[in-house]
Amino acid sequence: MTLQFSVLASGSTGNAIYVESGEYSFLVDAGLSGKQMEGLFQKIGREMRNLSGILVTHEHSDHIKGLGVAARKYKLPIYANEKTWQAMEHSIGEVPTEQKFVFGMETVKSFGSLDIESFGVSHDAAEPMFYVFHSGGKKLVVITDTGYVSDRMKGTISNADAYVFESNHDVQMLRMGRYPWNVKRRILSDVGHVSNEDAAIAMSEVAGERTKRIYLAHLSLDNNMKDLARMSVAQTLETRGIRIGEQFDLYDTDPRVPTVLTAV
Ligand SMILES: [Zn+2]
Ligand SMILES: [Zn+2]
Repeated sequence: MTLQFSVLASGSTGNAIYVESGEYSFLVDAGLSGKQMEGLFQKIGREMRNLSGILVTHEHSDHIKGLGVAARKYKLPIYANEKTWQAMEHSIGEVPTEQKFVFGMETVKSFGSLDIESFGVSHDAAEPMFYVFHSGGKKLVVITDTGYVSDRMKGTISNADAYVFESNHDVQMLRMGRYPWNVKRRILSDVGHVSNEDAAIAMSEVAGERTKRIYLAHLSLDNNMKDLARMSVAQTLETRGIRIGEQFDLYDTDPRVPTVLTAV
């Protein structure tokens, strides 16, 4: 089955990533209002009602803002690990028990020929985890909120065909910017977000001969810019012997505009 995906929206104003393989389709996070998400689905020619489920990465509001509403409206199954369920229960409203599913950390769930694998990250949430999608010999990795990329994570996400990879901030912009010191410290910490440069270093270590596309995701509105992110990632990769366009290409994501629905 062809594995297709679109980053519907990415950033601290809300995250939602659409992944489809044959008759199965999932949303990774539902961090925008129900109405906004419906609009985004329309733009890629899909409908929320046809989703097989929503996979939750962690309980921060930019990942679950529209979760309860969407799940109730379209009777969609929600998948999250136990700790994330506990942490978000009070903020998503009533969800019928038959729509609640536990997706354990470091496990694989199969839907037809689509295998979805979860892996833990380092982020200041209850038990944050992201997902790797395997279908038809293709591999798609989604990792948008982590303070750093550990060797363990690198093992799981190595040599994917496509990545949706956090490239959160420019360290200089963050240091000079208007955020209070404690917020800066949190973002820069091991349980915050990865910088453009650290993302590029991790990319250089995980990208393999199969890797064709890397989408720069979860860019900070205040401490990053698309051009800057692309440029610093490309520069850092180049210092490590990887030239953009030769091995793989970099793509932008946007808080409001979905990326073209593409086969991995
Ligand atoms: Zn986030
Ligand atoms: Zn987060």
